[in-house]
This record gives sequence, structure tokens and C-alpha cells, in this order.
Amino acid sequence: MQLQSSQQNKANLQRVVFLDRDGVINRNSPDYIKSWEEFEFFPKSIEAIRLLNLNGFTTIIITNQSVINRNMVSKEGLEYIHALMKKAVKSRGGEIKDIFFCPHTPEEGCDCRKPEPGLIYQAQKKYRIDLPTSIMVGDNAKDIECARRAGCGLSILIKSDNIANAEKILSEKKISPDSTASDLYDAAIWIIKHEVGGRRSDVGGPRSEIRDPRSELTPQRSKLSPLTSEL
Ligand SMILES: [Mg+2]
Ligand SMILES: [Zn+2]
Repeated sequence: MQLQSSQQNKANLQRVVFLDRDGVINRNSPDYIKSWEEFEFFPKSIEAIRLLNLNGFTTIIITNQSVINRNMVSKEGLEYIHALMKKAVKSRGGEIKDIFFCPHTPEEGCDCRKPEPGLIYQAQKKYRIDLPTSIMVGDNAKDIECARRAGCGLSILIKSDNIANAEKILSEKKISPDSTASDLYDAAIWIIKHEVGGRRSDVGGPRSEIRDPRSELTPQRSKLSPLTSEL
């Protein structure tokens, strides 16, 4: 009986893929992303989020947005960008469950700017998250370090323009990501295959939700076309 109830508790926990925003979901800019006009999704990032959701993962964004306290974007302006981003993902069948952002500049020394783990702790307070089986995907050394410090089970480094710098910092800190991926889609495929083949059996949750991405891709294209024509 005791074993059964502990399994039930485990099954209620959400397995989260924490996503960095800039350089993972959308193209980054040295001038920051200050408006929806400057926000450009990477080609397959929306599809990647949908695939992760289909396979039982909750997707939550964890992002440093010092643009707020640099007074380059208002909080309302950032929330507007995020509302449109969530809407775009939803219209394609995925869901960004929530977005946690740090508004501070590095000089403020807050506890939520990555690599500090504060944003993940904020998410953990709000949702029932199984951190040891949750995963961080980011393109910066800070993302990987944040995941490690928060106790996330796995982290994946995206090979963006920043890859050389990220790898240099990580090697100095003797931290290594569990995998690297060329983009979020590549990371999603890795996560799904890795979990289905390996650790997945350790975790509660409905097995019927596990879908092979390769068998999923073809039917979904046809499902997407009527939606596209509506837009
Ligand atoms: Mg980034
Ligand atoms: Zn902060």
C-alpha cells in the first residue's frame, strides 16, 4: 500500500522541460528583443514544444530579461511579447505553461538571474515539479549552471552563435551538459528518445502519451494544413 501511494504521488508530479528563450525559441539579438516585431521564432521551435507536450512534458520558459531594469522595455511590453508568443505556440497545438523572467541587471545581485536557480524555484513553488527528471535547454553557460544548481536532472546546450563562449565557460567551471543539440527541435528529439529508451521507466505518468516523433511527424503535417489555411 505504501509503495502504491508513493507511486501515485510521483505520478502527479510534472516533468518539465525548462526552456531558455532567446537563442533557443527565438533568434537572439545583441540589442535585445524589445518588441514583437523583433521577435523571430526559430524555424522548428514551435513544433519542438508541441512534440515535447505530446510526449508528456510540461514546457516552462525561464529567461533573463534585464531589458526591464535597463528601462528598454516595460513590464507590460514584455508581457505583450510573451502573450503573442504563447498564442502562436497554442495555435500550432503546443502549450507554454508559464514564463518566469528575471528583470534585474547583473549589478543588482538578485537571486533569480541565471545562473542563480531562483527562477526554477519560483516555478517549483507554483507547480508540482519533479526536478530530478526535469530538463533544461539553453544556449548559454548560465542555463546549464542554473540547471545544475537547481537540481534539474538533465541539461542540453544548444549550439547557437554563442557556443564557443558557452563551452569555454562551462569547461572552466567543470560543468558539462548532458548533450548538445543544433536547435530546440533536435533537443526535443533527443529528450524523447532518451527518455523512452532509458530513464522513462523510472517515472510515473501515463505510458500511452509516449509517442515516437518519427511516426508523429507525417500525420501532423496534414493536420496542420487546414489550420494554416485558416490564418
Ligand atoms: Mg539564451
Ligand atoms: Zn533577478
